[in-house]
Amino acid sequence: MGWDFETDPEFQQELDWIDTLLREEIEPLDLVLGDPYDKSDQPALDHIRPLQQRVKDRGLWACHLGPELGGPGFGQLKLALMNELLGRSSWAPSIFGCQAPDSGNAEILAHYGSPFLKEKYLQPLLDGQISSAYSMTEPHAGADPTLFKTRAELDGDEWVINGEKWFSSNARFSSFLIVMAVSNPDVSAYKGVSMFVVPTDTPGVTIVRNVGLGTEPEGHGTHGYMRYENVRVPADHLLGDEGGAFVIAQTRLGGGRIHHAMRTIAQVRKAFDMMCERALSRETREGPLASLQMVQEQIADSWIEIEQFRLLVLRTAWLIDRYNDYKRVRKDIAAVKVAMPKVYHDVAQRALHLHGALGLSNEMPFAGMMLGAEALALADGPTEVHKVTIARQVLREYKPVDGLWPSGHIPTRRAEARARFAHLLEHEVGNQ
Ligand SMILES: Cc1cc2nc3c(=O)[nH]c(=O)nc-3n(C[C@H](O)[C@H](O)[C@H](O)COP(=O)(O)OP(=O)(O)OC[C@H]3O[C@@H](n4cnc5c(N)ncnc54)[C@H](O)[C@@H]3O)c2cc1C
Repeated sequence: MGWDFETDPEFQQELDWIDTLLREEIEPLDLVLGDPYDKSDQPALDHIRPLQQRVKDRGLWACHLGPELGGPGFGQLKLALMNELLGRSSWAPSIFGCQAPDSGNAEILAHYGSPFLKEKYLQPLLDGQISSAYSMTEPHAGADPTLFKTRAELDGDEWVINGEKWFSSNARFSSFLIVMAVSNPDVSAYKGVSMFVVPTDTPGVTIVRNVGLGTEPEGHGTHGYMRYENVRVPADHLLGDEGGAFVIAQTRLGGGRIHHAMRTIAQVRKAFDMMCERALSRETREGPLASLQMVQEQIADSWIEIEQFRLLVLRTAWLIDRYNDYKRVRKDIAAVKVAMPKVYHDVAQRALHLHGALGLSNEMPFAGMMLGAEALALADGPTEVHKVTIARQVLREYKPVDGLWPSGHIPTRRAEARARFAHLLEHEVGNQ
């Protein structure tokens, strides 16, 4: 029997250590420090370096990476168990060296970068000394990358990039951007789009606006509206093969999506814990909120949804480890991507509602969580696109029926069964 839902005791000790460090040292930092991606914030960096060192000494640094890149190569299942703790804090992933999008960008550099790019960017990125951005989405076309217009043309030994990108997260803090651009417009986008490393200080790279989410004040956001005007990068800044962007993107996004889901478990649980605490604490004339059946229903529904989601994430992580091939687990990753914003939204919304006006106020985190759920429904592709992926993959396992009646048609099946078991029915009288 291969099914096992227990964490091995040795790794549980690591998880307990992480849990304590989070509670005592890291979670409070979210309330006082600025943006984890801002590497110019020296006081913040001075404070987190010793914490990063403690993580490294414990062998838990950059756990998404294999030993060849300085990580322990734990695999996705162990990473999921870690991330469902780390996701509680916005600083924790940076302190453990596994923050998105740097984690995915590092994987791309490691697999597809030239020796020069690896030396210049990979090591400082892995060491947490610099930040990076992923610049794929365009203002006129996000969900459908085949409509991208940003062009890259080879001129001598340099690529020249022109175009606009949208929602390049953390561009303002980045040392380099990974940019997707059309290098050959005469073939299908799946063969004519390439990926480049563009140092953020290259002449011609402009952040038109730093776009914020929801009620963030204008100009304070971290999602760059980017313009690339005659941006020249050396030929070796091409990642992988010319025309290979989609293959690279799938590798990166597959890992990225499941890592977001692992961290989302942490956020959903946080909302759920607050909801239960509130239900027990807030009194009505009927007694505490927890004694009301409609509140109990919300708690029960939330608990079931969280457990279902967590099992789906852990099973998908286990499948990735098993097959070591994101393509074979595409349907499962897409399912996790679809389930993630829904469970986060639904639980955060119930938690908000049970806290009344306080829940809606800026003194509690619920409104931010609900916005976060919407962000997860869009970032790395909207829910609908992933549902299409699931349906297509699922339908491959089926074939159309021959003839008029479905294979589950009861009279047809009964007639077949009667023919097959005629010898048992010989004595039967009537009921024909
Ligand atoms: C918080 C956040 C961070 C992000 N970070 C990055 C980043 O770092 N780098 C980057 O390149 N991009 C980033 N993005 C952009 C993200 O990838 C896009 O928002 C996403 O791909 C959707 O593109 P769009 O916003 O242009 O929406 P559109 O493509 O305009 O789609 C809008 C809506 O139309 C519907 N729709 C579109 N296409 C289909 C379809 N085929 N079938 C059914 N319905 C459809 C869906 O309801 C969809 O939500 C980020 C987005 C968010 C919200």
